[in-house]
Amino acid sequence: MIEITPEAWAVMVQHAQACYPNECCGILIGSESPGRRQASLAVACRNAYSGSQSDRFEIDPKDQLAAERQARQLSLGVLGFFHSHPDEAAYFSQTDLKNHWPFYSNVVLSVRHHQVVDAKCFQVDVDQTASTEEELLWPKS
Ligand SMILES: [Zn+2]
Repeated sequence: MIEITPEAWAVMVQHAQACYPNECCGILIGSESPGRRQASLAVACRNAYSGSQSDRFEIDPKDQLAAERQARQLSLGVLGFFHSHPDEAAYFSQTDLKNHWPFYSNVVLSVRHHQVVDAKCFQVDVDQTASTEEELLWPKS
């Protein structure tokens, strides 16, 4: 399971709503113990996908490197990634499956009419053929 702190959650929601109706993307940083991850920092990244961004994203590699450096400086780790689904449910698509690595926690935010209405988290199998839902705790407001 992964828990999102209020500080990290606020960044994710703000980024998802600011990018709407395009997909946003970012990186989750925090600490982990067996079976439990806590994301205390969310880093908003630029969507570098060159086509229509309403249903695609690609994290800007420069932003990703900067986030990894920031995690190291804080003695934390990169736990996973987040992206939004504008006017779609929080599910893991076939494209998502192909574009995510195993072992990470991947949070999908459903955004409708500029508002984040739902969130779910998924992990990808080692061979990237299936995803399983991971328990996600976020501060409900
Ligand atoms: Zn997606």
